[in-house]
Amino acid sequence: MPSLAKNKSKSSVKTAAAGLKKKLKLKIKKVATRVGLAPRNGVKGAKAHPATKTSGKRVYFFGGGKSEGNKEMKNLLGGKGANLAEMANIGLPVPPGFTITTEVCTEFYANGKKLPKQLDADMRASVSKMEKLVGAKFGDATNPLLVSVRSGARASMPGMMDTILNLGLNDKTVAGLAAKSGNERFAFDSYRRFVAMYGDVVLGMKPEKKEDHDPFDVLLDAKKKQRGVKLDSDLPADALKELVAEFKAEIKNRVGVNFPEDPYAQLEGAIKAVFQSWQNDRANLYRRLNNIPAEWGTAVNVQAMVFGNKGNDSATGVCFTRDPASGENMFYGEFLVNAQGEDVVAGIRTPEKIEALGAIMPKAYKELLDIRKKLEKHYKDMQDIEFTIEGGKLYMLQCRNGKRTGFASVRIAVEMVDEKLIPKEEAIRRVEPEALNQLLRPVFLPSAKKAAIEGGRLLAKGLPAGPGAATGKVVFFADEAEAQAAKGETNLILCRHETSPEDIRGMNASLGFMTAFGGMTSHAALVARQMGKVCIVGCDALSFDYHARTMTVETAKGTVVIREGDWISIDGFAGEVINGRVDTAPSEVIRVLIEKNLDPKEAPVYQTYAKLMSWADAARKLRVRANADQPDQAEASVAFGAEGIGLCRTEHMFFGEEKIGPMREMIVAEDEQTRRAALAKLLPLQRADFAGLFRAMKGRPVTVRTLDPPLHEFLPHDEAGVRDLATATGKSVEQVHARIAELKESNPMLGHRGCRLGITYPEITEMQARAIFEAAVEVAGEGQPVIPEIMIPLVGTKKELDLQAAVVRKAADAVFAEKGKKIAYLIGTMIEVPRAALTAGEIVDSAEFFSFGTNDLTQTTFGLSRDDVPKVLSSYLEHEIYTVDPFVSVDRGGVGALMKMAVSAGRAKKPKLKLGICGEHGGDPSSVEFCHEIGLDYVSCSPYRLPIARLAAAQAALKSS
Ligand code: PEP
Ligand code: MG
Repeated sequence: MPSLAKNKSKSSVKTAAAGLKKKLKLKIKKVATRVGLAPRNGVKGAKAHPATKTSGKRVYFFGGGKSEGNKEMKNLLGGKGANLAEMANIGLPVPPGFTITTEVCTEFYANGKKLPKQLDADMRASVSKMEKLVGAKFGDATNPLLVSVRSGARASMPGMMDTILNLGLNDKTVAGLAAKSGNERFAFDSYRRFVAMYGDVVLGMKPEKKEDHDPFDVLLDAKKKQRGVKLDSDLPADALKELVAEFKAEIKNRVGVNFPEDPYAQLEGAIKAVFQSWQNDRANLYRRLNNIPAEWGTAVNVQAMVFGNKGNDSATGVCFTRDPASGENMFYGEFLVNAQGEDVVAGIRTPEKIEALGAIMPKAYKELLDIRKKLEKHYKDMQDIEFTIEGGKLYMLQCRNGKRTGFASVRIAVEMVDEKLIPKEEAIRRVEPEALNQLLRPVFLPSAKKAAIEGGRLLAKGLPAGPGAATGKVVFFADEAEAQAAKGETNLILCRHETSPEDIRGMNASLGFMTAFGGMTSHAALVARQMGKVCIVGCDALSFDYHARTMTVETAKGTVVIREGDWISIDGFAGEVINGRVDTAPSEVIRVLIEKNLDPKEAPVYQTYAKLMSWADAARKLRVRANADQPDQAEASVAFGAEGIGLCRTEHMFFGEEKIGPMREMIVAEDEQTRRAALAKLLPLQRADFAGLFRAMKGRPVTVRTLDPPLHEFLPHDEAGVRDLATATGKSVEQVHARIAELKESNPMLGHRGCRLGITYPEITEMQARAIFEAAVEVAGEGQPVIPEIMIPLVGTKKELDLQAAVVRKAADAVFAEKGKKIAYLIGTMIEVPRAALTAGEIVDSAEFFSFGTNDLTQTTFGLSRDDVPKVLSSYLEHEIYTVDPFVSVDRGGVGALMKMAVSAGRAKKPKLKLGICGEHGGDPSSVEFCHEIGLDYVSCSPYRLPIARLAAAQAALKSS
């Protein structure tokens, strides 16, 4: 993702707000932009808008205590216009102005980028209203009214579109401004800024080549040099006057037009330019990343200028009504005396903390504090406000709901309920489920990450598969990670082309891992989310030389070679790989719930999290379960609110050293007797695993899936593994190689896996069922209820399920007879191939529950390998073939339609049929909403996504109620 900041033109950020927001960007770590986020519509920019019917009124006036618009009219007036109108309506000091509607933007594009004819008269009428309120005249040589022209879309797009300030100045009015203000320098300073902004934004005078500097800056620097001064503010009035003339001459020279002197011509040009900036590259990119439709268009706000740079009784600033990083209920902001916003951006002076305003301009400060209270009461949310003080008088220039971190989002929502500003339901609605990730994960210290990136240490980007931040030493082999961890090394990042089940213990021993290959449901990604590890996958800029023990990254600055033991840092929120160490901070919620080394009373972040979660639990209808296959994962799941296990992938249980051997023996066995011998070794190990899970889940249901190993994942990949297997099976190395070659499949994902394995070798299912029931009896004997649910994978026909169910039932009967104790259990199936969904009405006769395996269902519905999806994903998103990564969010039209079909066919025969989902989509908020809509009983997801699923389920329930 290219840096948006880089693409900003200088004129787009010329407000005081920009300085503070620039800093806050570091604090407000945007919730990871998921790969899934793609445009909902065309963003290419070149498309003409369809002609739309307008509601008639094109211009809405605001100011003077009453406005024609209000805060509910964001679609028509844009966020800025609607809120300016609202602030004026509630009596706040807003300089008067008018908003040209978003519909006019649509008209503008439909008419081949021409403004509608009638607009001119409407505009002139509004300008004359402004003139009366301000007591100045647009274009008047003695008492000129100056205006700003700003964009304002429905959703905030900070800095993406263009702004023009000080419009209305020309060679005549500048003299009036100088006389009126008694400050010639101020007048010419405003004029040269206007000419530069207008030249850039409206007349298109930009640097010719990317290496060139801004042409106006070049002239400004030359002038400073000529006058022997360092700062812009040191240039005297006559130098600024010269600059204005030089700017105009340069425009004439380069663009071939005279700078317009007529204020109305200036205004028309500016309005057109703002409309056109809706389609500039950075706005298009921003919309695409934030899912903002191109049809929305932008409004244009024309407002009387107020000046924060008129002297020491003037200032400009930006504030948040609460701390947008922590959420603390404190006034948070910065200001600069005698300044306009661009001074902040240029970093000429460091802004002061808002508290300091009290001592300098007490009256304006007090008024600002009152406004803070009034705005929160009125909007019932944290506001981001921009103000200017001109000659000691405060003016409000903007307010909107402030962007905030995940931490702040939860804290503000919960505290606003406590303050009786909003009801609990609103608090639930307000927090983005993904924002909860931030409360669970270690994060990079924002200042440290900023320094790293500014220092050119960003190496590459991949898919953010496991959120969080990890910094550690590179290790390329899982067994070495394990060995180093055993010696006490706690900071390891496992880097591999791809991972396989063999790597699991090394993955567990690492803080995080990263792969060059694989998508969001690849092995590494699944394991990361299940273990709660930081992970980046599909980072194809990396190439590995395992022999040389190096990882090579092609960066814009050249090739970087990372060696074993070098430090790297991975940001699993953003998918960013950074060279070297970046300091991290631990999560309070994890310390309370998982590490149990922090008293909840000492953990305010945890407390607000727990409160919000309790409200969400009361509101939701969907139950939540976890995908977990180890007791520690099960315990973490319970801590995160799991009401059961929705998927225990039994093949994941065979990763321990003592298990992978017999597992491989079982896979390569050529006859039943040899297979049974291997299975006999596995039985006690499996029994112990299941008993551990049942104990950890303390009477909650546990869905155990019979073996589903794509065989390629379990066969040895190296000579040492082959030799070990040869020794264990009493075969020659050649024989083992031959068997491995025999087992090799062209499409292992579509091969001998799932129930096909249990059908060809029923003794495998038999062993697993026996282990489950023996464990169940054992744990029940300890006085703890056990609810096993046996799930058969990859079923496509009823007969497959029947055959496997018969094996399971026979094993259950045998165990119960041997032990003299019966346990109630269910047998169900996954719905994860289209045929199962299409014939669910038959399959349901043999199933006591369905669980949607949407990873495979997506893979098989699209006919697209879940591991190879990154190869096509970005171009598919770009071409809008997919609007979202279908492996992240359920594809409603295809996969979702199959799910609906299976739900209705299943429930038609068994109205109470238990239905769940256990694909990765179970932790995706939009998919959770879909599961609620189609009436599933539960969603099952990775332990660390449970809070997200709980909140998303509550939001879905509130939405549909
Ligand atoms: C699935 O396919 O959605 C599923 C849960 O099974 P797995 O990811 O193990 O194939
Ligand atoms: Mg599957």
